[in-house]
Order: sequence, then structure tokens, then C-alpha cells
Amino acid sequence: MTAQIIDGKAVSVKCLDKIAAEVAKRTAENKRPPCLAVILVGDNPASHVYVRNKKNACEKVGFRSLSYEKSADFSEAELLALINELNNDDTVDGILVQLPVPDHIDSQKIIERIRPDKDVDGFHPYNIGRLAVKMPLMRPCTPKGVMTMLAEYGIDVKGKNVTIVGQSNIVGRPQALEMLMNRATITVCHTATKDLPAEVGRADIVVAAVGRPNCIKGEWIKDGAVVIDVGINRLENGKLCGDVEFATAREKASYITPVPGGVGPMTIASLLENTLEAAKLHDK
Ligand code: NAP
Repeated sequence: MTAQIIDGKAVSVKCLDKIAAEVAKRTAENKRPPCLAVILVGDNPASHVYVRNKKNACEKVGFRSLSYEKSADFSEAELLALINELNNDDTVDGILVQLPVPDHIDSQKIIERIRPDKDVDGFHPYNIGRLAVKMPLMRPCTPKGVMTMLAEYGIDVKGKNVTIVGQSNIVGRPQALEMLMNRATITVCHTATKDLPAEVGRADIVVAAVGRPNCIKGEWIKDGAVVIDVGINRLENGKLCGDVEFATAREKASYITPVPGGVGPMTIASLLENTLEAAKLHDK
């Protein structure tokens, strides 16, 4: 079997078109466009690329975007004060602090300072907690994007065995909650997992969020499984690759996401959807 490619880029364009249409409708109703504030501290080159992509996407759909690019010595107190200011600004719907922040800043303190209704990344414990009790408000962007992509391809997760490799707060754990909310049977793997090939091998759907190039071997994949590769790894030759050995996995799977062009664009689409949702909350 050669898997069908899940085209995250195409799905994300569809999402962005839908958002742009809603923004146009808001404008016609004399409502302000949603506004996203993005804060970047330091000079991590990858973060600069991510922030630029987010700003461009905002422009495409007609959002207002505010950008705060601060040098690496910006203090934690200054960052908290900036977040307070944006929390209190009624014209700002979403606040995003690009991670990672420099070592002298406590990222958890930053995440928890953002007002949950403006936490468009969905990282605040309040939002994770709401997802855990099946009452989501702001859903973490990458796992949400995965669910949107699966739905777009008509892949129903209900009753399926889903193995998620990785248990980070931003991907693996909320991905497990998303799958559980949709009544999949979930297994979450990490570095203490005893037999990773076996856990992957019995999955109808595999989500890899590890951050190690090609660590999920194609031969582990069950025939006909769906493979979602969240990993983004830069190789020495400068090329990007995922966590899954793509060519061999493609021969076993029914559907597979490429890297790049799979989950990545969906993360941004989810961010914009969350910002639009936040604006709607703030209309009331
Ligand atoms: P992370 O915080 O480093 O977490 C990695 C997880 O993988 C941990 O739970 C770790 O287990 C587990 N792990 C590491 N080595 C393993 C192994 N050999 N076997 C089994 N599990 C192993 O990473 P993250 O932030 O979740 O990101 C994961 C990947 O996704 C990265 O490549 C990142 O760049 C990418 N990413 C992509 C997007 C996107 O938009 N496409 C968004 C976010 C992240 P322990 O908990 O035991 O340490």
C-alpha cells in the first residue's frame, strides 16, 4: 500500500479562506477585525521565522497584528508588565509569546500571566484543564490542527487505537486529550516506554511528536495505519525532516503527513481560528 499524502498546506489554505470570509463579514457588520499581539524575546533564528509566518498569516486574513520584538536582555518583569498591558487592552484579542524564551525568563510564569481568554496558543493550565474536562475554550494549536486535518480527510478517530509518541505540554498531552474527547483509545509513549515498536505497531493512528529525526521506523507501522508526523527537525544538510521515516512508512500507511507541508501550516491556521474565537468572545 502506498499512503495518500495528507496535504496540510491545502487544508490550512481552506481554513484561512474561511477565516478571511468571517473577518469580511465582521467588517460589514461594523465589528473590528480580530487583533493578535505577538511578543518575541531574543534572537533565536527559528523563532523569527515562526513570528514572521504568523504575522503574514494575520495579514492574509485581515487581522490586525501587533508585534513586539525585544532584545535577549528584556527582563522577566518587563515581559510580565507588557503582558499585563495587553491583557487590559480591549482592542487586543490574542496574546502570543513565542517560545522558547531566554533562560532568565520562567516560561511557565509567562504562560500563566496571559489571560486565558486571550491565550490563543492554548497553553494556560486553565485552557488545558478545560480540554481535560471536555469543555475546551482555547485549544492548543498543533493538536487542534491535527484534528482539523483528520476531519478534513474524513478520518474518524472514534474507537480507534491511537498511539501518541511524546508527552510534552504543547503537543503530546493535549493531543491525547483531543483524541480522548473524540473517544479514541489512547496510548501515550515517552522515554520510559518499554517497547515503542510494539506500541506504534498496534496503532490505527500514530502521532509522532518527539523531535528526533526518523526515530519512528516505517517497518513499525501497521498496514493501513494513519501516520501524523508533528516533528520538525533540521538535518545537517539544512533540510527539514519529521520524526517518522517517511519513505518506508508511506509503503505501510493509508494516509501520511509530509514534513514540511503537513502539520506545520495547520498550527498557524489553528492560531488564527483561536484568535477569531477570542474576538467573538470579546464582542459580547
Ligand atoms: P519536547 O517537549 O522535547 O518533547 C518530546 C517528547 O518526546 C517527550 O515527551 C519525550 O519523552 C519524548 N521522547 C524523546 N525521545 C524519545 C524516544 N526515544 N522514545 C520515546 N519518546 C521520546 O518536544 P515538543 O515540543 O513536543 O516537540 C516535538 C517535535 O514536534 C519537535 O520536533 C518540534 O519541533 C515539533 N513541533 C512541531 C510543531 C508544528 O507546528 N508542526 C509544533 C510544535 C512542535 P519524555 O517526556 O520522557 O522526555
